[in-house]
Amino acid sequence: MLDIDQLQTPIWIYDIDNYRIHWANESALTLWHASSLEELTARDFQEGTSDAVQHTLLNYLDDFALGKRICHWWQLSPKGKAKDVYCQFSGVYLDDGRLAMLVEGLHVERAEIAALVSGTIMICLFNEQFELLSANPSFRQQFGTDIHNLADLIPVDELVKIDRQLAGKDKFYEQDICLQCADGNRWHSVEVRLSETTAGDFVVSFQDIHERKSRELELQQMATHDVLTGVFNRKGLFQRMKLLHEKQTPFSIYYIDLDGFKPINDGFGHAVGDSLLCQVASRLRRCTGDDGDISRIGGDEFVVILPEACVDDYFDVFATALVQSLSGQYKISDDIPPVVLSVSVGVASYPRDDDDLELLLADADAAMYMAKGSGRRCWIQYRKGMREQLLRRTQISQRIGAALLNDEFEMCYQPVFDMHDSRVVIVEALVRWPGSELAEVSPDELIDVAEHCGLIGELSSWIFYQACQEFRAIRQRFGDQVLLSLNVSGLHIQQGRLISDLEYAINSAGLLPQDLVLELTERVIMPDSKEYSSTIDQLIGYGFSFAIDDFGTGFSSLAYLNSIPAKWVKLDREFVSRLDKGVETVTCIHKLVDALGMNLIVEGVETRWQVEKLKEHQIFYQQGYYHFSPANLRNLLCDQSELKWVNVG
Ligand code: C2E
Ligand code: CA
Ligand code: CA
Repeated sequence: MLDIDQLQTPIWIYDIDNYRIHWANESALTLWHASSLEELTARDFQEGTSDAVQHTLLNYLDDFALGKRICHWWQLSPKGKAKDVYCQFSGVYLDDGRLAMLVEGLHVERAEIAALVSGTIMICLFNEQFELLSANPSFRQQFGTDIHNLADLIPVDELVKIDRQLAGKDKFYEQDICLQCADGNRWHSVEVRLSETTAGDFVVSFQDIHERKSRELELQQMATHDVLTGVFNRKGLFQRMKLLHEKQTPFSIYYIDLDGFKPINDGFGHAVGDSLLCQVASRLRRCTGDDGDISRIGGDEFVVILPEACVDDYFDVFATALVQSLSGQYKISDDIPPVVLSVSVGVASYPRDDDDLELLLADADAAMYMAKGSGRRCWIQYRKGMREQLLRRTQISQRIGAALLNDEFEMCYQPVFDMHDSRVVIVEALVRWPGSELAEVSPDELIDVAEHCGLIGELSSWIFYQACQEFRAIRQRFGDQVLLSLNVSGLHIQQGRLISDLEYAINSAGLLPQDLVLELTERVIMPDSKEYSSTIDQLIGYGFSFAIDDFGTGFSSLAYLNSIPAKWVKLDREFVSRLDKGVETVTCIHKLVDALGMNLIVEGVETRWQVEKLKEHQIFYQQGYYHFSPANLRNLLCDQSELKWVNVG
């Protein structure tokens, strides 16, 4: 049979009521520096036991009665020598029927104890006014001797909670708190319970859990933060939104997307991209200060949450400031020139736009897409229906590829007349998508979506090929002098395949570059973009001619007029629609274009009055629905080919 005295583990029974050790094994005698069991059981521990410790022990008895065991570090002072021992406490009944405490001192080397001394439990007793009544030595060691009131240690809001919880059902408070110690701030698990003996007093125990808690917090930080920039990640974003949502605090979210980040990241390498993202994050921190929360939820997408109270309803001012401070030059290193970036921002507000946080984020995302679509470097506030609009665009983009394979697109044409003799000089090719499942998809929408989803090259290539093939029939109808004009998308140039697509289309149809006019909008003709100008230079070299399309809709139109050697300038239909208010603007532009050696085509001519008015001012190149009025239709309808004409059934 196992002799309990032979056990290495020190075991003793402590009679709490009488402050005496009732029994101990051999190892315990050694631990307690006792010469014999009699000597040990004769010791009176009352003096060395603070009231706080005694209260805790008495509380333990309740737990022991329920069969519970308790483990933690305990500081013993046998013959005045402090020792930290990891103990397991449980209950044991004495012969007289009272409950005592069975203590097993788990075997721990002194060196380990030194390393784990922070594990020692600290216990103290406070009165109703939070004044310190007594504390064990490890409490003083940890917090110093200047603590006289619990308020010296614990923040006031926690004291309020303690008060409330002790008065509540559980009469117990438990919380992890970071407390100021003699050697810096450390995390503690703090437990507070009422004293069983003195009404109003309470016992507080502190356990240093700094290492474990710090690791936990680090993991938590990793789970909710973006490693690269240190701002919140998607999970963190939702946590922050939930907090405001729970308190029903109105807030706005600003969904920020960097315009043109991808080419920088691909072109200069990921290290440059990373540095750029970090700089964006720090500019964002400057914008929001302490008021807002910043998160990065995608490669180049950031979200700022700002309670509305912080901007006094001037969220528009804040949004403008965001766009301005994030757009501009970023210096990466001395080796590469500063990169230029702009941002598009979508704003959605709780609770106005949505109560559901996922939907709210989708709202802001949709608004951001709209901002991108409307020229970038701007912000747009979410409006009802935008999300649906975005969904529609996604559906359209998913259908374009299949529509190309199934030959669902068609070309339609609109002539430009020379009104000297009503001769057709140019025929403009315009794409159509008849009978698509997604109801009417206008060419504007189709081109816009194709540009955004990267299919513009494929689509344009099909358009060029088809229009060139059909152009033979147009020439048969209007003679060999007539030119074919094609609309060119800037993104098609950016994809680097415009020239090869054009070559393929004209070669397959036996045409020459001289037979074609390429229509470029002002936005496409960016004088400071090397990529564009080298493509355009090459096209000029081949003999293609150009038209500046939608002239007058950009904001610095005149600057673009002689930026490329265009033969034609197409005045946007806006100008003709306002002709009845005065002809000065149109005649003035006409003179300017004329003086630069170009030809003005006026778009959107819809009435006979407009035709005549323009002719009166020597403006002869005209395009528009009027030229398909019943009188003019007769001319074109004798056309035997399958060609479709704008505005003709
Ligand atoms: P755009 O290049 O300015 O084309 C002229 C647009 O004005 C055409 O609209 C045409 O139908 C319309 N229009 C012509 N005459 C009149 C008129 O008298 N009054 C009014 N109110 N409108 C008139 P559509 O075909 O809907 O095309 C819209 C835009 O979509 C085009 O504007 C062009 O930017 C783009 N687009 C159309 N087809 C193509 C294409 O094949 N390739 C590319 N890249 N873009 C295209
Ligand atoms: Ca055009
Ligand atoms: Ca136009």
